[in-house]
Parts: sequence; C-alpha cells; structure tokens
Amino acid sequence: MIQSPVEFFRTLPKKVCPECGQVMQEQAESYLMECDRCLSKKVE
Ligand SMILES: [Zn+2]
Repeated sequence: MIQSPVEFFRTLPKKVCPECGQVMQEQAESYLMECDRCLSKKVE
C-alpha cells in the first residue's frame, strides 16, 4: 500500500495549542507547542 505524500500530510492530525485549543498551522521551522498568541503572553 503506497500512500502518496499529499495523502500522508492530509491525514496528519492537526496541531492544537494546549493553552487555548486553537488549531495551529504547521510551521516546519518551528516545533513550539503553543500558538503565537499564548507564546507572546508568556514573554514579558
Ligand atoms: Zn494558544
């Protein structure tokens, strides 16, 4: 069973921020767990 790369990415679960539950867009250069909004809250 060969799965095309497109199908593979489509079936990946969406990344959700554990802080606010907002679905985040995948960022290849970023492995942050939280969305930009929650991260900015933590930065003082
Ligand atoms: Zn968040």
